[in-house]
Amino acid sequence: MSRIAIIGSGIGGLCTALALRDHGFDPVVYEAADELRPVGSGIGITPNGMQALDRLDVAAAIIARGVTLDQMEIRTANGQTLTSMDLNDHTARIGLDHNLMAIHRAELQAVLANRLPAEVLQLGRECIDVNADQPVIHFADGTEISADLIIGADGVNSTVRASLFPNISPQYAGDVAYRGLVETTIPTDADRIGLEIWRRGLRFGYFALNDEQMYWFAIIVASSPTTVPEMTSAELADRFREFPSPVPELITATDDETLIRTPITELPLLNQWRRGHVTLLGDAAHAMTPNLAQGSSQAMEDAIVLAESIAEHGISHHALATYENRRKDRTESILRQSRLQGRLAQIEHPVLARVRNLVFEYAPASLLRKQMESILAVDL
Ligand SMILES: Cc1cc2nc3c(=O)[nH]c(=O)nc-3n(C[C@H](O)[C@H](O)[C@H](O)COP(=O)(O)OP(=O)(O)OC[C@H]3O[C@@H](n4cnc5c(N)ncnc54)[C@H](O)[C@@H]3O)c2cc1C
Repeated sequence: MSRIAIIGSGIGGLCTALALRDHGFDPVVYEAADELRPVGSGIGITPNGMQALDRLDVAAAIIARGVTLDQMEIRTANGQTLTSMDLNDHTARIGLDHNLMAIHRAELQAVLANRLPAEVLQLGRECIDVNADQPVIHFADGTEISADLIIGADGVNSTVRASLFPNISPQYAGDVAYRGLVETTIPTDADRIGLEIWRRGLRFGYFALNDEQMYWFAIIVASSPTTVPEMTSAELADRFREFPSPVPELITATDDETLIRTPITELPLLNQWRRGHVTLLGDAAHAMTPNLAQGSSQAMEDAIVLAESIAEHGISHHALATYENRRKDRTESILRQSRLQGRLAQIEHPVLARVRNLVFEYAPASLLRKQMESILAVDL
């Protein structure tokens, strides 16, 4: 049996293990952390990601543990609606079976990990280097493992990628995100709607994860992440004081210790994702800004396509080239669109912000629909 090693048990690594097992392979996942402990926040899984999860036969379990969102809306802080998308309409038009799902990251990870036999997942195995010529993985505990194929699914700061392409590093994208979870009565406007509110230099989004838990994210434009220090929830709520209710209330109700601060980064476009029998997947290959909520869905799509390519062509350069050819253009296009959405949202100049708002408000619905559907439409 071929030895396939996956580095990283995030969404991408776990989905890849499931997809490979569906094709009869027996991969092992090596995870640096001593326990499965995802970032304590929510995540939106877009319909194309749900399609991939369907292929892995876990969509129903995700739906049972999350909330289906029928609508996405972007508003200004004074209540003007910039875009409103009926997701049922989009998914029906392009023939997808699922809508946008909101779920706690821990729930998502549990659904994926619980489908794998215990011996597939090796915790406390931090990869420190990969030799692509052999290929061999070196671990922080001093051990090394040879494999027929190594898949680097170790996230935006990937060690596997650094071993292959040492000159590539993530770049700061111009804003800092805070994320929070709060037990609260769900505001009526967040019932099955994903909402985002824009005000110059600041953005706030929120959606329900279940009957009593809300997830929110607050984004602050900053030329350097050092200008947005660690804040308490009271300090953060003060930054968002001009936002309508329930924004300041949601922030204030969040425990300081649970706030997650993340400077947003993205990867430059890579010329190649592979060297020898080592390839990259998910954020390790194409980390993008979260503006279109596509990062996890792209990792899920990668997983399906990589497993299919290996099943079809065996562990070979041809299989890795086929995977890359099928995935690279799509992920690069979505990365660029996500960056553009971020740049538009980051506009601080009042006149430019007004122009942007007008463009959003009066852009032909068909244009916006076409853009959205090109992202969501996926042939898996
Ligand atoms: C603020 C914010 C909000 C976001 N919101 C969304 C959203 O709503 N929807 C969405 O789809 N995406 C969202 N994303 C993006 C999404 O989180 C990522 O795209 C997704 O998690 C990528 O999955 P991954 O498996 O490639 O990497 P990761 O989730 O980063 O997993 C990498 C795994 O590798 C492990 N690892 C790292 N280094 C090593 C090593 N050396 N050895 C062994 N193991 C290692 C890590 O511990 C981790 O378990 C958001 C991102 C941010 C920053």
